[in-house]
Amino acid sequence: MKTLTVSVVTPDGPVLEDDYEMVSCKAESGELGILPGHIPLVAPLSINAVRLKRENHVDKLAVNGGFMEVRPDKVTILAQSAEKPSDIDIDRAQRAKERAERRLQSKQDDIDTLRAELALRRAINRLSVSS
Ligand code: ATP
Repeated sequence: MKTLTVSVVTPDGPVLEDDYEMVSCKAESGELGILPGHIPLVAPLSINAVRLKRENHVDKLAVNGGFMEVRPDKVTILAQSAEKPSDIDIDRAQRAKERAERRLQSKQDDIDTLRAELALRRAINRLSVSS
């Protein structure tokens, strides 16, 4: 089976570098499935899971924003944050989710609303990837 090298980097440092058969992620334009030999592409990523498939196994990452650069033999993801399921602190994500929900219910001005919505999406994404 052909593979491509996947490299995931955040401001805190490298998160993962390994070879996979397929990368699935959610770009702002929709779902993307990247196989080896894909045409070069740069796409902004949304707050979502990235799924990395090899043989019969899928590794998941909770990715928060950033960009993906695709070349035929390599996928590079540069994200604000990216965590493996084992690195996700579930209690922390649960607290972040509840805090964001409380802020959204208190209905402050628009900027706070957007910020709380993004925090809520990050927390839900982490909880979903860790489960
Ligand atoms: P919190 O309010 O709990 O800080 P956040 O969504 O605001 O959550 P981010 O700004 O997205 O946090 O991330 C800051 C740093 O903390 C990043 O390095 C990220 O990987 C890490 N991080 C955030 N939440 C968690 C979590 N639940 N488990 C593990 N690492 C986390």
